[in-house]
Formats: sequence, C-alpha cells, structure tokens
Amino acid sequence: MKKLGKQNFHMTTEEFRKEGKKIIDWIADYYEEIEKYPVLSQVKPGDIKALLPEKAPQKGEPTDAMIGDIDQIIMPGITHWQSPNFYAYFPANTSFPSILGDLISSGLGVQGMIWATSPAATELETRVLDWLADMMGMPEKFKSTSTGGGVIQDTASTSALTAIIAARERATKFESNKKGVVQKLTAYISTQTHSSIEKAIKIAGIGTDNLRLIEVDETFAMRTDLLEEQIKRDKQLGFTPFFICAAIGTTSSNAVDPVRKIGEICRRENCWLHIDAAMSGSAMVCPEFRHFQDGVELADSYCFNPHKWMFTNFDCDVFWVANREELINTFSILPEYLRNQATESGEVFDYRDWHIQLGRRFRSLKLWFVIRHYGVEGLQHHIRKHVEMARKFTK
Ligand code: PLP
Repeated sequence: MKKLGKQNFHMTTEEFRKEGKKIIDWIADYYEEIEKYPVLSQVKPGDIKALLPEKAPQKGEPTDAMIGDIDQIIMPGITHWQSPNFYAYFPANTSFPSILGDLISSGLGVQGMIWATSPAATELETRVLDWLADMMGMPEKFKSTSTGGGVIQDTASTSALTAIIAARERATKFESNKKGVVQKLTAYISTQTHSSIEKAIKIAGIGTDNLRLIEVDETFAMRTDLLEEQIKRDKQLGFTPFFICAAIGTTSSNAVDPVRKIGEICRRENCWLHIDAAMSGSAMVCPEFRHFQDGVELADSYCFNPHKWMFTNFDCDVFWVANREELINTFSILPEYLRNQATESGEVFDYRDWHIQLGRRFRSLKLWFVIRHYGVEGLQHHIRKHVEMARKFTK
C-alpha cells in the first residue's frame, strides 16, 4: 500500500502500526488494573465537558495527546462495565476475541448494505447465524437453508421494531406500508416486558392505547388466561389482535413467559409471536436450559443479545425470522443506484431488506471470532459457571 505522508494530514501506515500497538497495550493494561477503579464514575454533571476545550483544534495533534487526555479527562467519567465489581443492568461481557474481531471490522471499513458491497460480510453473517441456530437448538425454519434466516441488528429494541412492522404488514396484507395504519390493531405484552416493545409500538404507528399489558403470575410470567380474555374482549370491540411478545428473561427478574401456551394462542388468533430473549437467549447454547423456551418452534421471530451474555462487545443483537419473505416484502426498497446483477439474480441476501437502516457494519466478524475462540464447549462452560454462581448467590 502506498505510504501516506504528513503533507496530506493522514496518519501514515508506519505511524498507525506504532500508535495502534500502544493502544492495544493501553487496553490490556486497563484490564489488568480494572479493579482499582471505582465502578461508578464519581464525576458530577458537566465535569467532563468543563475539561474539554470549547473549540476543535485548528492544527492536528499527536496520538499521545489523545491518549493522555483519555487518562486524564475521559477515564474519570467512565463507569466500568467490564469490572468484575459491576453488578448493574447486565453482565460484564466483552472479550478480547470480540474486540479483535471488531478492530478488523473497523480496519476493513466495509459497508455491508447489500451482498455486492462486500459478499463476505453477508455470507459470513448468514453462516454464523445458521451455526448459532444449531448451537442453540433453534427450529430449522430460522435457518437460511429453510424459509427463514438470521440477521444481526444493533439492539433488541431494533429487532422488536422490525418484528412489529413486519407483523403489522402481514396483518394488513402489506397495505399499511402504502396507506398508513388504518386498521384497529392490538398488541399484547406482559406488565414485565421490556419498555423497548412499547417504544416500538409508538414508532410503528400502532399507538400505545392499543398495547395491552397482561398481568403476571407469582413467577412474573404472563398469565395466558388473562391474555385470552383480553383478546376476546378486543375482538368483540372490533380490534384486530396482531402481535404478542413472549420474554425469555425479563429485565427486572429474568422471568420466563410460557412460550408454548402463548404460541398456541398466536396460532389460533393469527398473531405474530416475537420472542424477546435479549437477556437469557445465550443460555440456550446449553441443552439443559432449553426447556425454558419449549414451544419456540411456534415463534415468527426471536431475538437475543450476544452483547449481553455471549462475550461479544456492544452492539450485537441476533434476530431470526421464520419467514424471510414477509420481512423482505415489508422492508425492501430498490432505488436505481442500488440496482446490481447479484440482487437481480435473486441468488443473494441483501441485508438492507431485513431491517430499518441501509448501511450496516461487519458485526459478524466479532461474533465469528468469539465462537471460534471459545468453541461451543467454551461458551457452555462459562454460561454453566455463571448459572452456578447465580444459584449459590440465591442460597
Ligand atoms: N429486552 C430485554 C429483556 C432487555 O433486558 C433489554 C435491555 O436491557 C432489552 C430488551 C433492550 O435491549 P437493547 O439495549 O439491545 O435494545
């Protein structure tokens, strides 16, 4: 590669080598010393901003100046999510293989919006998500070799929105995309379901007045008798039930909804079943935990967050659908400037048709690094160890 010089302000490849090594060392030192930091940042609102200049520098600065400011200005404002003493939200979860995979993604600078913009970005993602489906005992229909397939989204919130919009289109025979939502659609979640579903209901034009919150039992799982009663009432009032979300691991208590019973209601009532396994889906790599999602074969879509419990750094949410055609029919749009032979041949996946945004990062690299580094056995080992620790803690 042609070496870039100072005259055009770029960092040269030689400088990149040198500074990059320093930064890898900086990260390794951070992990070696992470326990010395107070987990929660001690700063007050505005403290960090006050230490940053009000104007951008007129002249370029050396990387050492940035690293110095990371230590002096940024680190005091960090809450140490990866600290072994961090017990909030979800587990300290990143891993070195994941960081390295992500670094290569940044290095390649690939934009994998369609197959043609980088075939490996699409095909690796397809393959890795098929691996994961097998690793987690998912139904065949979620695999690319069947009717469905998987796609990496940024977050479970985006997966929920994607599922709700696809469900809306299925329920309205793809009319809402054209005319806006004119039908009276209703969606169902439990009182414990994550707020991302409510947010998605707002964004998708369903309206929160049409979201029903079903009470839970003593294990904080959705009561399906109340779900059925509510659906009946809504139908009598002229609503069309179209979407139900079952959680595998709720945010407050890790409760698990009765997937099979909810799935059977979905089938009967013609509702889309989305499973939000953001938190606990990763545990399904261990066969002994799969009874928690008995009935998963009834789901239309399923998401879980490797960025929560599968040693993959934020952001990485896996979203599977049973019928990719419904998803593609909902999201596909083909402006002239994105036309290409591969798309036209119908032989490839163009992931821009599987979600909301067009551009997409090469996120499967970090997941691939993680799965290959740990192997299925390594992932199972850690999940089992974590569950064992949780059991001890509850005693
Ligand atoms: N669903 C559950 C059960 C969660 O615990 C969370 C997040 O904490 C989410 C969804 C939203 O996750 P994300 O930040 O990936 O949108």
